[in-house]
Amino acid sequence: MPPGEAPSGKLPSGNAPSGKMPSKEVMPVTRMQFNYHTHTSRCGHALGADREYVEAAIAAGLRQLGFADHSPMLYPEKASGYYSASKMRPEAFEEYAGSVFSLREEYKGRIELFLGVEIEYYPECFDKTERFLRDRGLEYMILGQHHTRNEYDRGAVFVREPHPEEDKVLTEYTDTVVKCIESGKFLYVAHPDIARYTGDGDFYRKQALRICEASLRHNVPLEVNLGAFRGGNRYPSPAFWKIAGEVGSPAIFGLDAHTPGEFTGIPETIDAFLKETAGFGINYVKEPLL
Ligand SMILES: [Zn+2]
Ligand SMILES: [Zn+2]
Repeated sequence: MPPGEAPSGKLPSGNAPSGKMPSKEVMPVTRMQFNYHTHTSRCGHALGADREYVEAAIAAGLRQLGFADHSPMLYPEKASGYYSASKMRPEAFEEYAGSVFSLREEYKGRIELFLGVEIEYYPECFDKTERFLRDRGLEYMILGQHHTRNEYDRGAVFVREPHPEEDKVLTEYTDTVVKCIESGKFLYVAHPDIARYTGDGDFYRKQALRICEASLRHNVPLEVNLGAFRGGNRYPSPAFWKIAGEVGSPAIFGLDAHTPGEFTGIPETIDAFLKETAGFGINYVKEPLL
C-alpha cells in the first residue's frame, strides 16, 4: 500500500501540484490512500455498519477501500457441522456482497469500493469455497492464514499460540503461505509474520526468507498489519521486516480494521512503524493494487 508515496506517474491529476511530481523524498509517506483489509460485523467480532467504515475511510482521505471480512468456509460433511466462530457464515455472504455493491454505487466519485475476503487456505475446502464466493461477485482475496491444515483437523494448530513443536508449526505455516503466493490467487498476504516463534534465529530467518523471496518472485505484496501494530502484538515482527527489506519484497500497509474508529490516526501509526523499522529499506508498493 502506498502510504502517500507518489505512485510513479499514475497519480490522478489534481493531486500533483501544477503537473510537477514532487520528488520521492518530500512525499508524505505516512498518507494512506488504499486499504484492502476491512472487516464487518458479519464475522462476529467487528463492530459498526458498513457505511460507517466507508465514511471513516473518506474522512481519512482514502481513495480505495476494500472490504475483506473473514471468509465463510464451506466445510465438508466429514467436519460434521463444524463452524468457525470468527468467520462469516456462508448464508451471510450474499447480503455482504449486496451491501458493498450498493454502497459502491452510492459513494461513486468519492471513494472506490471493492468486495473481498480475508481467507485461509484449507486444502479440503478452499476450491469449493472460492467457487462459491466468485459466483457471488467476489473481487479479491487476501490470504490471512491463522491455522495449519484444515482448522477442524485433529492436529491443526492456531499459529499464534505457543506450541511445543514450533519449528514444525512454522515450517507448515510457511509451506502453506508460499504455496498460496505461488498460486497467484491472492492480492496480498495479510500478516505474513503472524506465526509465533521463539526458537533459533537462523531457522526463523530461513523460513521468513522463503516467504519474502516468493513474494518478490511472484510480486505478491506482504502486509504490514497496522491493527496488530497498534495493539502492541508480537507482529509486525521487526525480525521479519528486516529480512523483507533485505530481499526487497513488495510491502503494503493494511489496517485490519474491526471498528470504523481505526481509520483515525493512520499517519501517526504509519510514522511510528517507519521509525521502528528505519534503515530496513522496506519496499512499499506505490500503486493501488485494484
Ligand atoms: Zn478479525
Ligand atoms: Zn483481518
